[in-house]
Amino acid sequence: MKVIGITGGIGSGKSTVTAMIRDLGIPVIDADEISRKLSQKGGRVWQAIFDCFGPDYFLPDGTLDRKALANLVFADGDKREMLNRITHPLIKQEVLERIGEIREKGLDRIVFVDVPLLFESGWDEMVDETWVVTVPESIQIERLIKRDGYTMSQAMQRIKSQMSLEEKCRRADIVIDNSLSLEHTREQVLRQLDQKVQEDR
Ligand code: ATP
Repeated sequence: MKVIGITGGIGSGKSTVTAMIRDLGIPVIDADEISRKLSQKGGRVWQAIFDCFGPDYFLPDGTLDRKALANLVFADGDKREMLNRITHPLIKQEVLERIGEIREKGLDRIVFVDVPLLFESGWDEMVDETWVVTVPESIQIERLIKRDGYTMSQAMQRIKSQMSLEEKCRRADIVIDNSLSLEHTREQVLRQLDQKVQEDR
């Protein structure tokens, strides 16, 4: 079974592409979803954040104050690194368990792992192949403003806090261009998957 890591930049269309892949019946493990699950009150990530950052980043009912934490880490690179250092190993462990379960069932030839920080957190070393969903920065900004209601400078700040899409494309095995229509994107996804099936024969 081939494990493919898929990533992009914020708002570049990773969720759009992974939805297409899921629609084809191919399993996609979502590292963000796992992170959210583990950050629920009492979860392993929740506990690690509490131990490291203290009660300021929690609401009165004990749930994680995601907004406060996001504001902190987007503005402060050291804090962002610290958050990643304590949370990534916990998320990795759970992702590996899920890959193991799918492998054990023996029903799938490909599994995707959707990881926003695929290259930054060394996931690229742990998968068989990497895909990057990309758009030019101007489209990224436009779609972020439209989707999340960010101002131009909020969108820019978030884009700049990540590794550049250009660099990710350089490192990726496969680049999916999502700057045009959804149909154009879907065609590229299908072409790549067809190729995998051929290679497998
Ligand atoms: P994030 O990592 O921030 O969650 P993402 O990479 O998963 O973002 P999406 O949510 O898939 O990005 O896409 C960002 C926005 O752009 C969404 O509102 C989506 O509907 C829109 N979008 C995605 N692909 C296209 C496209 N080809 N044409 C027009 N709009 C698109």
